[in-house]
Amino acid sequence: MSDEVALAQNARPCEGTIFGKILRKEIPCNFIYEDDLYVAFDDVNPQHYLVIPRKPIPQLSKATDEYELLLGHLLIVARKIAATRKLDQGFRIVINDGPVGAQSVYHVHIHFLFGRQMRWPPG
Ligand code: AMP
Repeated sequence: MSDEVALAQNARPCEGTIFGKILRKEIPCNFIYEDDLYVAFDDVNPQHYLVIPRKPIPQLSKATDEYELLLGHLLIVARKIAATRKLDQGFRIVINDGPVGAQSVYHVHIHFLFGRQMRWPPG
């Protein structure tokens, strides 16, 4: 089992996450995109951005229908990042949800993976 999966299996929803600290700029991070609803920044792993809403929705499966526009905007943000970064050969976005989905930070986010050939199926 990878460290990331082990971390995810022990993670649980909580009020404050590390992403809250990143949003408040309490811990250093390289922001690559910001708008009124979302920020994106470098994941600690290379070739990997995270896109997170300013609103701390804990996970996709807990998002209610009222977030339809907000979550739709997430894909538009991903498209804008791809365009700005000139990723015209493609990229991959992933959402992990809950322990089985290997979610470790309970603030909904997309993993934006780029810059290498992706394989399928994922692990
Ligand atoms: P997940 O496992 O889907 O909840 O994803 C959480 C992501 O947050 C992982 O890809 C981590 O590498 C990333 N991460 C955790 N702490 C930080 C940090 N301080 N700065 C940037 N990325 C982080």
